[in-house]
Amino acid sequence: MTRPHPTKRPTDAAYLDERDDGTRDGDDGTLDPPRELLTLPWIDIHNHAHTLSWDDRERYALSGCRSMMMVASGYHWTPYKPVEADDIRFLWDDAINRREAIERNHFFEAKLGLGVHTGVRIEDPDELLAAMDDYCALDEVVAVGETGVVPSQHVERWGIEEQQAVVQAQMELARDHDLPVLLHTPNTSTDAKREYRDGLGVTPGYEKNAGLGADPVLDGDNPELEAVKRDVAAARDAGLPEERVVASHADANNTAYLMEETDCYLSYTIGHSWLVGVDAADVANAIDEYGPDRIMVDTDCANVLRTDPYALKRAIFELYRYGIDVDDIRQVVLENPRTVFGFEQ
Ligand SMILES: [Zn+2]
Repeated sequence: MTRPHPTKRPTDAAYLDERDDGTRDGDDGTLDPPRELLTLPWIDIHNHAHTLSWDDRERYALSGCRSMMMVASGYHWTPYKPVEADDIRFLWDDAINRREAIERNHFFEAKLGLGVHTGVRIEDPDELLAAMDDYCALDEVVAVGETGVVPSQHVERWGIEEQQAVVQAQMELARDHDLPVLLHTPNTSTDAKREYRDGLGVTPGYEKNAGLGADPVLDGDNPELEAVKRDVAAARDAGLPEERVVASHADANNTAYLMEETDCYLSYTIGHSWLVGVDAADVANAIDEYGPDRIMVDTDCANVLRTDPYALKRAIFELYRYGIDVDDIRQVVLENPRTVFGFEQ
């Protein structure tokens, strides 16, 4: 028997304790805090943590990150435009150079994804692709990517067929090395409430000169979705099984297609929701509609934009609040990444 609270007058707690029908919180399972979520290990399959600060990587460790894949393929970190093959090679080597020190410092398992991103045109991509074979054989490389056809480039256009060929060549390498491919799927942008002042050039929150966007190379009704369809076509042509493709930046524009017409995994990027509009609610909706079997969550945290190393841990709590079962949360943030990328048990 619970004693009445010794408060001077009734408080919220008194009302919570006893309802009119005599039931109490907890009787129907409504208040049974999921304590296991406090210590549930999780895996971030898409970030650029090697570009973050030491303290940001420590935040991953503090909030329970067990493993991560650090992706070295972005043109954001090459100072020169257009980009040469060697510039991308430097990004791969930099990540290889630092990966083990990052594991020693922060204790989580840190693996690598290496790829050729087509967000900016790269001179001599064949030179890179030829070198990539040996990189794919490294133990620390657990995926190819991020890569994927992009409707419009930064600085200089890259023809759609040439892009698709570069994506397909990477998928052939992934097939040969039995590696998954991390796709960069283009997001549709959310409506801005207001335009920024002219002449700023750089997008606030994202260190990118928006004024250098080249004219699109895909211009249909839905270029972002068409880009994803071209990626899936490339996987099929490469003989890479669709279940070895993880489409990062899944969103409302590509979820139905990927779920209903392919066997790809979908990873929802929730580390920069302010930019792409995707958050834990989208993940919860997708789990409700399609089940947790092909769903993951990633942060895409990087030093070039406003991102949150705690985003995945926060999403774990938010998924529960949105009604997702603990077992389904565990599958999405831990088990699916392990199965696909081969992280440690
Ligand atoms: Zn990324």
